[in-house]
Order: sequence, then structure tokens, then C-alpha cells
Amino acid sequence: METKALLDKIKYCNSLTSYSRRKTIPVKVGDVLIGGDNPIVVQSMTTVDTMDTMGSVEQCIRMIESGCQLIRITAPSMKEAENLQLIKDELRKRGYSTPLVADIHFTPNAAELAAKIVEKVRINPGNYADKKKFEVIEYSDESYQEELDRIKERFLPLVKICKEHGTAMRIGTNHGSLSDRIMSRYGDTPLGMVESALEFLRICEDEGYYDIVISMKSSNTQVMVQAYRLLVQKLEEGGFKPYPLHLGVTEAGDGEDGRIKSAVGIGTLLEDGLGDTVRVSLTEDPEFEAPVAQALVDRYNQREGHDPISGISQYPISPFEYNKRVTFEVFNFGGGNVPRVITDISIIDKIQPKEMKQVGHFYLPELDKWKMNDQGADYVFSGSNPIPFMLPNGMKEIQDFSIWKNSGDKENKFPAFTLAEFKASNNFHVGLNFLMISDLEVEEAVKFLKHRKDVVVILSSENIHNYAALRRAFVILLENNIQVPVVPKVTYKEKSQDQIMLYAATDVGGLLIDGLGDGVMIDASDYSESNRETILDQIKLHNSISFGVLQAARTRMSKTEYISCPSCGRTLFDLQETTAMIRKRTDHLKGVKIGIMGCIVNGPGEMADADFGYVGSGKGKITLYKGKEVVKRSVPSEKAVDELIEIIRKDGMWIEPEV
Ligand code: SF4
Repeated sequence: METKALLDKIKYCNSLTSYSRRKTIPVKVGDVLIGGDNPIVVQSMTTVDTMDTMGSVEQCIRMIESGCQLIRITAPSMKEAENLQLIKDELRKRGYSTPLVADIHFTPNAAELAAKIVEKVRINPGNYADKKKFEVIEYSDESYQEELDRIKERFLPLVKICKEHGTAMRIGTNHGSLSDRIMSRYGDTPLGMVESALEFLRICEDEGYYDIVISMKSSNTQVMVQAYRLLVQKLEEGGFKPYPLHLGVTEAGDGEDGRIKSAVGIGTLLEDGLGDTVRVSLTEDPEFEAPVAQALVDRYNQREGHDPISGISQYPISPFEYNKRVTFEVFNFGGGNVPRVITDISIIDKIQPKEMKQVGHFYLPELDKWKMNDQGADYVFSGSNPIPFMLPNGMKEIQDFSIWKNSGDKENKFPAFTLAEFKASNNFHVGLNFLMISDLEVEEAVKFLKHRKDVVVILSSENIHNYAALRRAFVILLENNIQVPVVPKVTYKEKSQDQIMLYAATDVGGLLIDGLGDGVMIDASDYSESNRETILDQIKLHNSISFGVLQAARTRMSKTEYISCPSCGRTLFDLQETTAMIRKRTDHLKGVKIGIMGCIVNGPGEMADADFGYVGSGKGKITLYKGKEVVKRSVPSEKAVDELIEIIRKDGMWIEPEV
């Protein structure tokens, strides 16, 4: 365990090295308890129009059956708030007691009505009492206080109703929809997000109302993680109660990308014992969300009592802002390079050129040429199964030292040493050597790494508290001023493909968010007994997860990023279909961020730092954005994708797709 002085300074979790959940006050939502010693609650949100009572009820039931313990439904105006009663009555009639949450933006009167009907209301402090004009206003202390007084007047009636009816509340800050007031004073920073919630929280506490859950969502995983950590610190410093946390990454997208992005943000916080309820938001039907959230949460069921990790007395990492660990440049690792992907193919005997497509390198036999896609692995680890053909230029091979030392080509292949081999060797590659060590060997390895500028460490841990164990090892390197690049290697035994995706995203993504790690490697040894086809599928998955994690942690962009909202009762078009259509035309635009939002009310704010935006603004009508600026309004939806491409083209970010 850490010293008390260190924990007092960090204040965002119980321990950096020993897993335990942060102690929070329990908040009652119907018959579900969030926080305290209660299991982490999984929740989700409907996408059917709230006025469609039977459609909403049917969808709620599908969600409940998929594991959803709490259901949020949008209530954009009074009529939807009223209809919550019908939805609730029908659900109860059919024997479902799952508590409901009304999702409110802009409409205090709908919130006040909903608070008398459902078990919880969610308000967005960025737009509960403010209409966003995207104005920067200079506030004096006095005029700022006047604004707070105005908010209090608008918000207090809801607090009183919640208190009277035993209704819980989520104060749900979104990075993309902070008020002009907060933006003017703090910018769109994690501190601004925290302060946005605290303004409302102070009003609740003054009124003696404490049934509150707080969230700090963003589609940027770095900002999201920093904001939650800062929130915990500020709650403690400010003498507030330890309120439960609702974790979520907004607009995460769909498929593998959406799952990886959610895991990077949510998983990183769960690792440090933060989080009492989780919502994974995917641009898919909501019944697909709860199983992903549950898979993330279940990982911690048996985490307490893990193998010990030595305590930390000085913490050289800032948990509240992104600072990359300083490293030497060794070949194309570390320094100013993007993190590298090393794909483990060591379990494939005599790999064929055509099988390299699993790692993004394609052999074209007619031309006797190689092509690489955006997810071409930078390095492959062949271990003791050397690749029996010439590799293309874009790819490099790492071999076990025992193979490399007898290899005919010592220049274009690179050796991987165990610590014992490294200590005993006087035979090294002239520029790039890999040292494969576990977290338990780092202390000893430090002695041999001082002054070496030709080594990249591949670091692994067998501790089930993997992220914390690896982070601890990085702290040793930082304390000893060892600046060799380090690639975290993660191993998951007997896990499903989904688990590997979520766990790798958590463990490696968490480190990347803390500025740690110069690459990623996923161990494939667990598949050594499988047939060749399964092994190849698995390797392809590992390769794509690796690129996905780097992108989700915002450290290397290798594909187009879609910031698409999960959709809700406000959505003006079929989000899944539209996202698929836009993806089909634009998925070759590496690094470009495209926001796809279902409505103009929240969409422009929620898509935060997208380069371009496609936002529903009426039935069959789309408004197109470049950054936060409207470029074309009310474009008929059948023409909107072409127009979007035209805007991208005019901005110089378009490239023609390769045939
Ligand atoms: S942006 Fe999407 S999820 Fe958010 S309110 Fe609009 S339609 Fe609903």
C-alpha cells in the first residue's frame, strides 16, 4: 500500500497498487442500490420514440432480458415526461420492476414532472438552466455569482420534488455540452467538467438532498478518465459526500471500435476501484450494451486479494493531465514516434506469405509485390518460428535470441532476450534489441538498462491486477530515470474474443492514457493447440485490437474515427444505417473524425472535437458541420453524404479511396 501522504496528495482512489472499490454512499433508485457495498449496476437507454408507449415497453423488456438493471428514457418535453407514466404502468403490469430514469436536457418543467413519475432523473448541468450560444463572456465574480443565483432559482424546485418523492438524480456532465459560463471561465477542460457538476451539487447539498450519482462523460477517453479522477479529488477536498459514480464514454461508436473505446475509458477507472454504475453506449440496439458493460464489470468480481504489488511512495505520473513518459528514440520506438504494434505470430509454424494478410500485409503473387493497409503491424514476433521468406519493407521481425544468434540475417531481424540471456550476452544487434521481462524483474533489469540506447523493453505481468502491476513497473523505471521505450505485453488465458478485446483495451489503454507505453503486444500462446484457421483468426483479431486500442487512447490514429451518438427518442434518422453508409464512403480517411448525431438539440455539443459533423435537423433533413461551424443547413438526407464528402474535399482532407 502507498503511504498516507501520497494518497492524501492523489486522493482519487484508495490505492494505486491494491484493488479495492472506492467507498461511496448508497443511493436508492427504486429497489436498486447504486454505490455503497452493492455490486456495480449495469444500465442502458432506450432508442424508441418515448411517445411510442408499446414500442418503448417492448424495447425495455429486451434490455432487461439482456441484463439491464436500470433503464433511461429521454423526456425532451412535457408530453414525453407524461408518457413515462404509461410506459412505467405497462412495465409494472407485465411484472417488470426495473427502475426508470428520465433523461432531461433544457426542459426543467419536464424534469419536475418526470421526477414525480420515475425513480431517477438525469440532468445535464450544461443545459439545464442555460441555452448554449457558444459565446465567450467575461464574468466578474459578481456577475458569475448572479448566474449561479439564477441557476439555483431554476434548479431548486426539481431538488425539492426529488427530495419529497424519494427520486434519485444523476448530475451528468458532458464534455461536449458545457455551458457558456463554464467554457468562459474554465474552457472545455476536465476541471470545467467537474466544476459544472459541483455548481449543481452545492445547491443539492444546501437543500439536504443527497440521493445523487455523478458522471463526467466525454468521447475523448483521456479527458473522460481525467475528469472522473479530478471529480473524486475535488469531492474529497471540498468536503462533499462520496457520491457514487456513473461511468460512460459518450458517442463511442459501434462494433469493435465502440467496445474498445468504452473499455479504455470505463475499464481504466474500474481498475482503480472507481465506478458504481456503468453504461456502455454503442451505436447499436440497446440490448447489445448491457452484456458489454457486464463483461467489463465482472472482471472485478474476484480482483480483491490479488498477488501483492509493492507500494508507491512517490508518484511521478500525473493522473489529471496527459504527459507522455520521456523516452529515447530507439529505431522507430519511443521519442516522437507513434506507439508501435508488435503482433505475436510465434505459434504459427512456417507462416506463408499469403497468411501475412492477418497482420495487414498483403502479398500480390501476380506482381510479386507487397501492399500494406492502415493496420499493417510494424513488427511481428516470430519467437522460435522464423519467417521463411523475405519480408516487405514495412515490416520487421523479432526472433528469440537463440534463433537470431544463428540467423544468416542479423541486421534485418531483431533479437528478443530474456533477462538471463541479456545479462550473459555480448552479442547484440547494432541498433535494436528487445528485452522481455516481467514486472517482477524490472528492479533487477534497471541495473542493465542504464545508459543503453539500443534496447526496447517488452514488459508483462502475471498479476491479475495487470494494469496496476504494469503501472508500478513503469514507476520503477521513472524513479530510476530509465528512458528506454517500453511496450506492454498482455496475456489472457482461456478468454473469449470479446473478453480479450475489453481486457486489452483496459490494461494497455489505461497505461497509454497515463502516458505510459510505446507500443502494444498481445500474447498469442494460448492458441498454440488450436487449428491453423483459428490461430490465424485470432492473430488478425489481436492485430486489429492493438490498432484499435492505440486509436481509442488517442495515441495513434490509423483509421477514420466515427463519433456517433447511441441514438434515443430524439433521433431523426436511422443511426446504424446512416453510420454504415457514411463509413462505407469515408473509412479510408485515416485520422479524420466524423460526428454522426441524431438530433440538432444535443448533437453539435456532443460531437465535441469532430472535424466534420452530420447532424439530424428535421425529418429527412441534415445539417453539416466543419468543426463547430455550420456549413450547410437542411440538406435532404439523400444528398447529405455527397455534400459531406464535398465539404471534406474542400477542406483538403479528402483522398480518393484506393481500388
Ligand atoms: S445526440 Fe443522439 S443520443 Fe443525444 S439527444 Fe440527440 S439523438 Fe439522442
